[in-house]
Amino acid sequence: MTSALITGITGQDGGYLAERLLAEGCQVHGLVHDADADVANLLIRCPTAQLHLGNLDDDASLAAVVRASEPDEVYNLGGISSVAFSWERPVLTAEVTALGVARLLEHLWQTQDRSGKPVRFVQASSAEIFGDAPGAPQSELTPLRPTSPYGASKAFAHQLVGVYRGRGLHAVSAILYNHESPRRPPTFVTRKITRAAARIAQGVENELVLGNLDARRDWGWAPDYVDAMVRAARHPRPGDYVVATGSAHSVRDFVAAAFTRVGIPDWQAHVRVDPALIRPSDATLQLGDSTRARTELGWEPTVDFVELVGRMVDADLAA
Ligand code: GDP
Repeated sequence: MTSALITGITGQDGGYLAERLLAEGCQVHGLVHDADADVANLLIRCPTAQLHLGNLDDDASLAAVVRASEPDEVYNLGGISSVAFSWERPVLTAEVTALGVARLLEHLWQTQDRSGKPVRFVQASSAEIFGDAPGAPQSELTPLRPTSPYGASKAFAHQLVGVYRGRGLHAVSAILYNHESPRRPPTFVTRKITRAAARIAQGVENELVLGNLDARRDWGWAPDYVDAMVRAARHPRPGDYVVATGSAHSVRDFVAAAFTRVGIPDWQAHVRVDPALIRPSDATLQLGDSTRARTELGWEPTVDFVELVGRMVDADLAA
């Protein structure tokens, strides 16, 4: 039986991944920290997942979870997941999101070296490593120019994955563009918008306050991105893969699509821009070229932009 270890198992992607691996018959282990508010939710969906207390900034806890789970596959989805938060806590972001990967990779390397049993590692990397990219779309060959503490931490982790790959670990970096679902927390702009559109349509709220409406993102469907990570883990050769839809939309487009879905065409009447929500620096055009993932992994996105917005709005209306 395949043993899989997931850090960040209580997050959006962690939950989708745990559900999928359990359905395949894998043994699923997850790293959770003591302040993790979402453990109960995860256990409702995945009652047989085995959870271990620990943290990416705590080396001893990582050693213990690797020993206990003896993983064949490791998915590192843990860490600070918000660009905005990384501006508030840059040192913590580096500690967890950058150095946490160094700790984990070293334990996995040592375990593989000692036991002779191969370990397949997938790092959930991010389009934020490209930051102020020289052009679009970005591919695996685009230079790294992060523009936030989050992006810089992810860039370090991405490069370290390459270093351990050179050392003989099956180490994959999946460069994930924004991927959303009804489980996305409302700290992200998509869910903030779909929740507000649903509440405004139902008369519970009247106004949605946003930052930069011109920012463009390549938004995809989270379970598709989980599928790409599993494919990459099991591919014969490890590598870097951009995982993206290849079409970008602005925050303004997202707002318009969400309000259209709830039957409010004049979204402008309900949306206000607050300059305080505009970030010190923001990657303005993120667009991914996922040709390598499509050709080598046989991966493709299954949900387009309008369908994605629709699924999120419908879930919020139902809630
Ligand atoms: P990110 O791309 O991982 O940072 O995901 P977010 O969903 O947090 O942000 C996506 C884009 O939406 C960024 O360019 C933000 O600057 C922009 N944005 C505009 N208004 C807001 C807002 O009110 N909240 C958030 N989180 N982002 C906003």
